[in-house]
Amino acid sequence: MPRISSRTETFTDSVIRRMTRVSLQYGAVNLSQGFPDFEPPKEILNRLAEVAKEDFHQYSITWGAQNFREALAEKQSRLMGRKIDPNSEIVVTCGSTEAMMAAMMTVTDPGDKVIVFSPFYENYGTDAILSGAEPIYVPLIPPEFNFDVDVLEAAFKQKPKALILCNPSNPCGKVFTYEELKIIADLAEKYDTFVITDEVYEHIVYEPNKHIYFSSLPNMQERTISCSSLSKTYSITGWRLGYIIASAEIIDAAKKVHDFLTVGAAAPLQEAAVVGLKFGDKYYKDLQEKYTQKRDLFLKGLDDIGITHTVPQGAYYVLLDISEFGFDSDLEFCETLARDVGVGAVPGSSFFREPVDNLIRLHFAKKEDTLNEALSRLENIRKKIPSRK
Ligand code: GLN
Repeated sequence: MPRISSRTETFTDSVIRRMTRVSLQYGAVNLSQGFPDFEPPKEILNRLAEVAKEDFHQYSITWGAQNFREALAEKQSRLMGRKIDPNSEIVVTCGSTEAMMAAMMTVTDPGDKVIVFSPFYENYGTDAILSGAEPIYVPLIPPEFNFDVDVLEAAFKQKPKALILCNPSNPCGKVFTYEELKIIADLAEKYDTFVITDEVYEHIVYEPNKHIYFSSLPNMQERTISCSSLSKTYSITGWRLGYIIASAEIIDAAKKVHDFLTVGAAAPLQEAAVVGLKFGDKYYKDLQEKYTQKRDLFLKGLDDIGITHTVPQGAYYVLLDISEFGFDSDLEFCETLARDVGVGAVPGSSFFREPVDNLIRLHFAKKEDTLNEALSRLENIRKKIPSRK
């Protein structure tokens, strides 16, 4: 037998998605892979039922259905503070996962370097491997997850092609301030670097924090490739609807990459989602309130149990400190947690470049009943998982 590619030997399957399978195996409340267990907006579901009987069963235009791009351009123009052209400045992708991969392939050549903040969403490391780029990791230092400007500039001095910015950040919940974004913007300009953003949690931000689109900073529009998706905003992670917004020149190249990667996102789902893209401001305000309540409930539950944890400014993840249990492997801890306590989590080591083994990630994008059930199981954590110290 010939050998399979050496490229595929350099990474494992996604630990996040593996933990969903582990949770299913043990019947655990799955707070590992971040997706909701509540329904998407009924307007979108009603439209989906109608679309089944309409003429949307063949390919849409490869870079996205016209009315989807028009509705998206209108929504994002309002938010991003500039007029986005639906024809030349958008590519609709299969989730933000494809958007990020296509963005990487659009701007990097094999051997190019890209800056990645650590902790980071695990796909970025693999995106780099698949596109042949080499990551330079810059730590976000706990507990505030700030970065050291000198360390960041040292990374820029290695002449990276791009910086990847996940804001609000998965897994640490950081929402970058204007001052922090401005430092990144000034360095991107000084060292002539692209910035690829992952802004899928743009609408899940807790007061008083505010999401600032990186492309809206002075002179940044031309060098920013903004990636996002409808998954988290409309609770439709399984629909795989994402997009890239950038200048016409970048989008021209991204369209070609996307065309040969996937041809296009599902046509009927694009059509059904248009109604969501046209929601007014109230929808996003309500979403923010809903997630604020979930965050408060979940964090209070963790406090009552007495587990040290992060307090997210945005997104829907919490990092819990498991040092007291004395495990050498956070992966083994998560397997034990799923099996013996009945709660699914992701080992922190899948997000950090640094040798971190004392953190696990839980998410709270779940119904209150589900969160309460997880919390009541976690109350027994010290009985069910004796400390190995
Ligand atoms: N972003 C989600 C998480 O971090 C999962 C996304 C995915 O699995 N595609 O859990």
